[in-house]
Amino acid sequence: MDIAWIPFAKPFHMFSSFANVVTRDENAGVRLPGVPADPAADTELADIDDFTWKQLLDHDACTKCGRCSSVCPAKASDRPLDPRDVILDLKAYREERDAGGEDVPIIADGGTSVIDTETMESCMACMACMDACPVEIEHVTQFTEMQRQMVEQADVDGNAQDVFQNVMQQGNTFGDPARKRPDWTEDLDFEVPDAREEPVEYLWYVGDYPSYDDRNQEVAKSLARIFEAAGVEYGILYEDEVYDGNDIRRMGEELLYVDQATQLIGAFEDCEFETVVCTDPHSFNTITNEYPEIDFGEYADDPMMEVPLEGYWNADGSIDVAHYTQVVADLAESGALDVPAALDYTVTYHDPCHLGRYNDVFEAPRDLVEQTGCDLHEMPRNRADSFCCGGGGGGLWMDFDEDPKPSEERIREALEDTAAGDAVEKFVVACPMCMTMYEDGRKTGDFEDDIEVVGITELLAESLDGQAAA
Ligand code: SF4
Ligand code: SF4
Repeated sequence: MDIAWIPFAKPFHMFSSFANVVTRDENAGVRLPGVPADPAADTELADIDDFTWKQLLDHDACTKCGRCSSVCPAKASDRPLDPRDVILDLKAYREERDAGGEDVPIIADGGTSVIDTETMESCMACMACMDACPVEIEHVTQFTEMQRQMVEQADVDGNAQDVFQNVMQQGNTFGDPARKRPDWTEDLDFEVPDAREEPVEYLWYVGDYPSYDDRNQEVAKSLARIFEAAGVEYGILYEDEVYDGNDIRRMGEELLYVDQATQLIGAFEDCEFETVVCTDPHSFNTITNEYPEIDFGEYADDPMMEVPLEGYWNADGSIDVAHYTQVVADLAESGALDVPAALDYTVTYHDPCHLGRYNDVFEAPRDLVEQTGCDLHEMPRNRADSFCCGGGGGGLWMDFDEDPKPSEERIREALEDTAAGDAVEKFVVACPMCMTMYEDGRKTGDFEDDIEVVGITELLAESLDGQAAA
């Protein structure tokens, strides 16, 4: 082939795109890079020279195809973020700077900077952009590192500051006392076992929302009833449970994240168990993919670190961690849990980003919904193509001018675009943050008379009740 006609930029571009695909990190985004304890080797991004060669290659490799922009929920809801523009703006700035242009900060709140803080706050860390990118650009990794820079500069939104403060002072995102964490168990007519006092097969990490939020407490109570019905040995950490840190990490608060992880692992260490079971896909993600990567030794002299950790992890750096849908689906399959097909609702199911796109758990939740007898109709955007509820990356705690909110758009999609149309009665979720976001979107989008939002545990518990009543 005669290649003389190809413009100079084109072969370079073909090379950089190819190189980017070859050097991709399979786990990028799912497992964020750690911040080394040595401040001289920090991973914040104050200056264009702080970007790694791989991140600069990302900028060069972008083909401007716009696929990332077309799937980005932040862009779709009018938040001030377009992932392609961020990548291209960083590249354009580097080229100008290298040609003798002015040095400006990479990120700042107002003033002259390459990227505005509001742009990065808008990111839901849903990873749809990375999944769509044909040349494997790792947006979320560098977007998070820019958020670390924001934390370093104290350029943090007021709501995010409140959440960080709550975590720092009380060990949870609600800012409620630890002693109130197990209050939800008092409404049950049985005692939830204490994993600190007896060996258990399943150490249930309940999480902040199912512990402190009224609506999500119903999800937790239903899961406790399911464990009881299956007769398994399970238990919780009661007031020793602390926030796992997944989302503050994605908001750039790395040191606080490591502190939370350290405390939580310390609490795990005091128990005898086989598998950690998480209610929340966000906890499931970070405990599975990120905790084994934290080099706690590096933080040993940091006064923020409260629990010395030695020899906790298996030789391969792993512990067994599962999302509750996986455990309950296994219990149903083994016959330990009899799920009667007692329900006849027409429903749809929303794949949470951290469970589906992040961790490829697609079938267990669907199997459980179908076992209850419900007629399940798929959302048009499902499985890895799911669309974030708007709560990821700290979105749950922030206020944005959105039109429409991602949660409203998603409920509209459930009522108008599935094969069942407006016959869909229930919008089924498997994530506490999704529950909160969709209950909100149902109200603000005026869908309260049209559809209910339910957790999978609630459907299962209702199905078990149906059996008991029959
Ligand atoms: S992670 Fe999600 S919200 Fe963030 S830029 Fe990518 S697609 Fe948009
Ligand atoms: S999908 Fe990838 S290549 Fe296409 S515009 Fe976005 S970052 Fe660039």
